[in-house]
Amino acid sequence: MSVVNAKEIMVEAAKHKYAIGAFNVTNIHQMEAVVEAAVEKNSPLIIQTSVKPSKVLGRQVMVAVYRTLAEAAPIPICLHLDHCTDMDYCKKCADAGYTNIMIDASKQTYDENIRQTKEVVDYCHSVGDISVEGELGTVSGVEDQIKVAEDEAALANPVQAVEFVERTGVDIFAPAIGTAHGVYKTKNPKIDFERMGKIHQMLNGNGIKVPLVVHGGTGLPEDYIKKLIEMGGAKFNVSTELKHILIDATYTYIADHRDEYDPGKIDAAARDAIRHAVGHWIDMLGSAGKA
Ligand SMILES: [Zn+2]
Repeated sequence: MSVVNAKEIMVEAAKHKYAIGAFNVTNIHQMEAVVEAAVEKNSPLIIQTSVKPSKVLGRQVMVAVYRTLAEAAPIPICLHLDHCTDMDYCKKCADAGYTNIMIDASKQTYDENIRQTKEVVDYCHSVGDISVEGELGTVSGVEDQIKVAEDEAALANPVQAVEFVERTGVDIFAPAIGTAHGVYKTKNPKIDFERMGKIHQMLNGNGIKVPLVVHGGTGLPEDYIKKLIEMGGAKFNVSTELKHILIDATYTYIADHRDEYDPGKIDAAARDAIRHAVGHWIDMLGSAGKA
C-alpha cells in the first residue's frame, strides 16, 4: 500500500462512484495535515503541488517527505505535480519520484497539446509506475468563468477528447467543462454537466479506462460535486480553499497571541484548520473508508 500512482486509485473511485481529493500543499506542515486527515478518514489521497512550491522547496525534498509519510501511512497516497507546462520539468519530477504528472499543454494548439502530452506519457511510463494527466480545453480563472463556460470552443469537445486520449495514451484526463481556478463569483457557477457525462460515457462506458479529473474544486456547491461524481469525476483538485485557510488560520493565531513567540504553535494552528477542511472534503467526495 501507500506509494501509488493516481490512476489506480481513481479507477476504483470511478467504478464505485466516489472521488479522491487532490489537495494542494506548499509546505511540509500542510503535507502532514492532509495525510493526517486522510488517515483519520481511512481515505485514499492525492497530494498535489504546483510547480512553484516544488521548485522553491525542491522536488527531491517534496518527494522525500511524501515517501516518508506515505510509507508510514495505512492508506494509498499519490504525489501529483499540477499544471506543469514545461515538459522538461515534468520529466525531472517523474525522475525525482512524483507518482502522477500533469502536463498542461492546453494552451497550445490541439496537435501540439497531443505531441507534448504523448512525449511526457511515453517518458513517465518508461521510467516507472507513474500516471500522467492531460487537459483539453480551457480551465479559466474565476474572472473568466462565465465567459469560458458559455464558449463552446473553450470547452473540451467530446469527439476530440476521445482522439486526444487515444493518441496520447494519457492515464487520466481533465476535460474543460466550465469549472475555474479561484473562488467562484457566483453561488451557482455554470458548469456543463452534460458534456462531462458524455465524455465519461465515450471514454469509460465499457469499463473505466481513463478516469476524469475536475479542476477548480474550491467553492463548488456540494450538489454540484455529487453530480460531477455521478458524471464520472474521480479526482477533484482543491487548491485555493486550502491556501485561504492556511493564511487565515495563521493570521488569526498570531493576532490572538501577539505576545507569544512559538512558531510551532502557529504551524499547529494552521495544520489543525487544514486537517479539518480536508476531512470535510473527503466526506463530500465519498472516499472515507475506501482506503
Ligand atoms: Zn487546475
